[in-house]
Amino acid sequence: MSFQNPVFIPGPTNMPEALRKACDMPTIDHRSPLFGTILHPCIEGVRTVLKSESAHVFIFPATGTGGWETALTNTLSAGDGVLAARNGMFSHRWIDMCQRHGLDMRIVETPWGQGLPADKYEEILKRDRDHRIKAVLATHNETATGVKSDIAAVRAALDAANHPAMLFVDGVSSIASMDFRFDEWGVDVAVTGSQKGFMLPAGLAIVGFSDKAMKASQGAALPRTFFDINDMAQGYANNGFPYTPPVGLMNGLKLSLDMLREEGLENVFSRHHRIAEGVRRAVSAWGLELCAASPDLYSDTVSAIRTPEGFNATDIVTRAANEYGMAFGVGLGEVAGKVFRIGHLGSLTDAMMLSGLAVAEMVMVDLGLDVKLGSGVAAAQDFYRHGSSSGRKAAA
Ligand SMILES: *Cc1c(COP(=O)(O)O)cnc(C)c1O
Repeated sequence: MSFQNPVFIPGPTNMPEALRKACDMPTIDHRSPLFGTILHPCIEGVRTVLKSESAHVFIFPATGTGGWETALTNTLSAGDGVLAARNGMFSHRWIDMCQRHGLDMRIVETPWGQGLPADKYEEILKRDRDHRIKAVLATHNETATGVKSDIAAVRAALDAANHPAMLFVDGVSSIASMDFRFDEWGVDVAVTGSQKGFMLPAGLAIVGFSDKAMKASQGAALPRTFFDINDMAQGYANNGFPYTPPVGLMNGLKLSLDMLREEGLENVFSRHHRIAEGVRRAVSAWGLELCAASPDLYSDTVSAIRTPEGFNATDIVTRAANEYGMAFGVGLGEVAGKVFRIGHLGSLTDAMMLSGLAVAEMVMVDLGLDVKLGSGVAAAQDFYRHGSSSGRKAAA
């Protein structure tokens, strides 16, 4: 592995120098008003990224997994019904966490490569007449398969069933890279982390709670201490945490939010879309297919690429690391060995992406796959280049 090459794993993502420096802070008194000048802009900025006017934002020293636990333990009690679909490794892990907390799971097994089945959610919710289901889980972007699901459709399913369950969305690999609409989609808890779209080291679990989810925390009986949002809210009211906050990371988050605001959220999303589309054109030029079953499901932050039957996709990742010092993602769970993943989120430019495609191509040729050197790179170049007639905007 090389420290010079960008990484193409779907998190943690490449860190802009300015963010690395912002995390490198002298010690301050975390109970002084100075900490408030870091904390409050972080909370405001996250709310903006979530496209929410009213979300209660909490930042814990944890990762996305801690964000899942924050969502569950603050709103639910053992035995509560939870509806979820399993369509990849991350939805699987969240379901596993629910089971360990004694929640009563209704699981919709969904082929890996498919999106969340909003129609099945609606059927199940309609049958749940006594409202035993208290929460519906939705993984916005399944990082294992490169599948983006339609959260508005899940909200529509809840509404069509006239069901009061809360909607919890895992946006760890979408928020700050892909459009996310907390208010419009009626999200009750949104979960993300620092090391993906926010371009920071791992270490922050970032969550947004609706008024309804805040209210649910009053009656929720699952045990929680470290992840208690009401303790956290009390801390924030005094410019602090209930314990020692990771000040440097939060200073990084403050700058990350400034950078996202400066580029413009919609520009951030369209940059991700453009870079992803170049990758997709390369994949198609290689004669390969995505794990995502149809174009409406294609993720703008990660592509999981199927390799031919009998070929071990993990060999691509191993060889890229050992021979060319470049990191790609392996297949996880059910698709281990069947796909390799190209992460294309966070701090990336077209030029960086071309380097990743060039290395992936060399590796595939080395390993005997029927891929022509330059074919994918050329397809992406053709899409990225600023032809005089295309009118495409310059890359950031
Ligand atoms: C990365 C990721 C997570 C959380 O992973 P952590 O390692 O705990 O930060 C959860 N869900 C999705 C979809 C992810 O991509």
